[in-house]
Amino acid sequence: MRIIIASSEAVPYVKTGGLADVAGALLHELRGRGEQVSLVLPLYCGIRERFPLHDTGRTFTLQLGGVALAGAVWASDQSPVPAVYFIECEELFGRTELYGTARGDYYDNALRFAFFSRAVLETCLLCEVRPDVIHCNDWQTGLVPLYLKDLYRDHPHFRRTATVMTIHNLGYQGLFNKLDLRYTGLGWEYFTVDRLEFHDMLNYLKAGLVYADVINTVSLTYALEILTAEHGFGLDGLLRSRKSALYGITNGIDYEEFNPAHDRFIPARYSRDGLENRAACRKALREQAGLENKERPIIGLVGRFSSQKGLDLVSGAIAPLLRMGVDLVILGKGEEYYHDLLAASARQHPGRVSVTIGFREDYARLIYAGADFFLMPSRYEPCGLGQLIALRYGSVPVARRTGGLADTIRDYDSRTWQGTGFLFDEYTVEALLAAVSRALAVYRSPERFQGVLQAGMAENFSWERAAGRYLMLYRKAVLRVPA
Ligand code: ADP
Repeated sequence: MRIIIASSEAVPYVKTGGLADVAGALLHELRGRGEQVSLVLPLYCGIRERFPLHDTGRTFTLQLGGVALAGAVWASDQSPVPAVYFIECEELFGRTELYGTARGDYYDNALRFAFFSRAVLETCLLCEVRPDVIHCNDWQTGLVPLYLKDLYRDHPHFRRTATVMTIHNLGYQGLFNKLDLRYTGLGWEYFTVDRLEFHDMLNYLKAGLVYADVINTVSLTYALEILTAEHGFGLDGLLRSRKSALYGITNGIDYEEFNPAHDRFIPARYSRDGLENRAACRKALREQAGLENKERPIIGLVGRFSSQKGLDLVSGAIAPLLRMGVDLVILGKGEEYYHDLLAASARQHPGRVSVTIGFREDYARLIYAGADFFLMPSRYEPCGLGQLIALRYGSVPVARRTGGLADTIRDYDSRTWQGTGFLFDEYTVEALLAAVSRALAVYRSPERFQGVLQAGMAENFSWERAAGRYLMLYRKAVLRVPA
């Protein structure tokens, strides 16, 4: 099979969240198995400076909304099947941020990602790639399945091309003013409720969900949750109508990259059977975060600052958590409201609460390696990678039982001493505190705590299994294309 993965971010090139980890790791794993797979990525600012790319010499021009935009295709290597194709368009992608700043999204995202979606198909034509499957990811590439079945419908090049649409987060749909339809190159006949229209707006993800041959999301629980009004973000009806084409594949993480035994970002390396050095990481974290007391348990949190991540619960829980005797180390970036709220908490509780605003891979690793617990009180969580990394690094997750968190963390049972973390159900500060309280009871018994920590480290959420399931999904998609 010839596979194209279309994604707006991927490690190691550019990352704002889990999508980047998934796209990068899936590519790596599938290539490792000898699959003919390439990724297509926008060429953002700074990538060419950090990675040796080569110019394929292939260029194209697209007329979108009366504007002619020129694109060029770069590649990560010169092999016949390059790992990554990069779409250069300085006007649209030559920016340091991917989608917008803390103040809000870029005003021209509709144009940027319509262009990118078209560019994915143009790249296939120009570079003579006849994909059996194009794997689209989130709203940024939602238009690809529609374009294939519309603008490129009669193109012999794509006669056998199937599409897979992965929902990494249904909360982000690429909603735009309907007048932005002109940037897509599509006619008004597409602006109907069974196609692109969503409450009088344009919805890019919806295009993917309507037109893709198969749809999947990143955990089984989330695949069921999005069929309900509570988690469906207005698309649950459409998803229910496509239920027979909807699958759930739990994400993995790259077990080579995220490995405390080799991690170059942490001050001391350790493994499940040799945990002595973890104390050195904990000490380094304590020092870097400016925590005063050596004994108190540390709760870490790394993530996007958005309401999805349950930060309102966190800010409400800080004072009682401190009274329970824990210290907090928080790293994240996102909405200004949470920046201000959490930074104020840190100022109020120096030496007990440390808040770092920014995207810092090195510091994130130190938190995973040094914290005793890792907090993920998400309102909803399609899969969540934070808890998988935390399990791998031995910081015990305390999380809400939703989406992928429910599928990947085994709640501790005090009768059997079995489990890998502490889950709570209700989205309330009280429920969060009750879970922390259960966690602290176990923490006070070193033997039991080590058992939970080691059980977590023994779990296997590597990409091997997930990649195998994606291959099966691609085959299902191919079977749905009429012969
Ligand atoms: P998301 O909803 O943001 O995709 P995930 O839990 O699936 O959440 O993935 C988040 C990924 O991004 C994890 O690898 C996490 O460690 C990383 N991450 C999030 N915020 C930061 C940050 N501020 N600094 C460093 N890494 C971060």
